[in-house]
Amino acid sequence: MTDTPIFSPDAFRLDGEEATLIDRARRFGARVLAPRAAKHDREATFPIENFRDMHGEGLLGICVPKQYGGSGASFRTYCLAAAELGRYCGATALSWNMHVCSTLWTGALADDLAMSAQERAEHNAKRVMHYRRIIQDGAVYSQPFSEGGAAAAGAAAFGTEAKPVEGGFLVNGKKIFASLSGAADYYGILCTERAEGESASRRNTLYLAVPAQAAGVSVTGDWDPLGMRATVSRTLVLKDVFVPADELLMPHGVYFRAATSWPHMFLTLSPTYMGLAQAAYDFTVAYLRGELPGTPPVKRRMYPTKQIAVAEMRVMLEQTKALWFQAVSEARANPTKEQVLRAYAAQHTVMENANALAAKAIRTCGGQSMLKSLALERIYRDSRCGSLMLPWTAELCIDRLGRETLYEPGEKDE
Ligand SMILES: Cc1cc2nc3c(=O)[nH]c(=O)nc-3n(C[C@H](O)[C@H](O)[C@H](O)COP(=O)(O)OP(=O)(O)OC[C@H]3O[C@@H](n4cnc5c(N)ncnc54)[C@H](O)[C@@H]3O)c2cc1C
Repeated sequence: MTDTPIFSPDAFRLDGEEATLIDRARRFGARVLAPRAAKHDREATFPIENFRDMHGEGLLGICVPKQYGGSGASFRTYCLAAAELGRYCGATALSWNMHVCSTLWTGALADDLAMSAQERAEHNAKRVMHYRRIIQDGAVYSQPFSEGGAAAAGAAAFGTEAKPVEGGFLVNGKKIFASLSGAADYYGILCTERAEGESASRRNTLYLAVPAQAAGVSVTGDWDPLGMRATVSRTLVLKDVFVPADELLMPHGVYFRAATSWPHMFLTLSPTYMGLAQAAYDFTVAYLRGELPGTPPVKRRMYPTKQIAVAEMRVMLEQTKALWFQAVSEARANPTKEQVLRAYAAQHTVMENANALAAKAIRTCGGQSMLKSLALERIYRDSRCGSLMLPWTAELCIDRLGRETLYEPGEKDE
């Protein structure tokens, strides 16, 4: 049985090109990712062969602008395609997100930002190299930002620092939870550019591609987490790493501008979990109908309690989809306050509901459904990770929603 699209092109009024790309992702997920997911989850190994196959399928370059040889997917198209991959392997979709953001943020998002003519020319000249590596060589980029302090939440400058030197930067620091560690060809880090005697400032955040093979780069620590095991998010240590200036993914000061004027960029962790929410629901329907491959053809759908549970899951899924679709559709530079508040609400809803749906799926389907031989057990564990992901954790979304609703920028109480 072929799964139907999460967002059907007719109902959600997707254009033909958008629908084709998303359809390609869905078929690829079902055919290639699903059969490999259990082994990598069990062994906590990175599914590098998925990324090699994505290269052949054109998925590594989905957000590379067309003039550089990619598919030029918009923010929304990428989000809908990523949800389809998340349905079949959460860890691959999440890792793919880290890779794709290095092209989406430097591509469609950067094209939407205000830049001087000089910044624009510099950016266009530099990104050619990154896109060529991806399109021609199948290079894989990652996105290690987190450091275990307040920086990943946007509350402080990054502790990883880049000291300007002849021809580039000398980078020192440590990144925790670095998905694709040991597998990526380039680590797209955020760090603070700081010359001798200068104080650290978020305005001087640099977005820099560190070649994995550069001297001074190492991966440490073990990786044996609850969920998203195949992301292999170990610790990345950078010790006196020389990074040429050409490796800048955005010109000086532009990342800070992106983070402040294009806030939906932080919604990009949510598509994976939208896919997991759909997967938990799909599993439940197939299981109760006695149609799930690998299980005896025993129907359990005739009990009223099961019917009510499926109905409640459907209500939650439809609510989640509707809000999230609206939020990913209205992503743009300088969004209105309403659009930003809706983005927080969408992120919170997807991250919390994915896990709530998976928990309800297990309770409804029963004991046999949580055996490790079936996908639901993995979906349950993977979906638990969504609300922990900075900078928009479920807690921080609630925090911002409350504060930014009640206070206009600059307002204070006496
Ligand atoms: C599977 C997985 C893969 C990941 N991959 C990556 C990756 O590739 N790259 C990457 O950069 N990160 C990645 N992360 C890291 C992730 O985004 C978080 O940085 C990480 O989970 C932080 O955990 P922590 O316990 O150190 O959070 P802490 O900083 O200790 O925060 C704990 C909680 O406190 C709250 N909190 C934090 N700061 C504030 C604040 N200023 N105000 C109010 N509340 C706050 C938040 O709700 C947060 O959940 C990944 C995480 C997971 C689970």
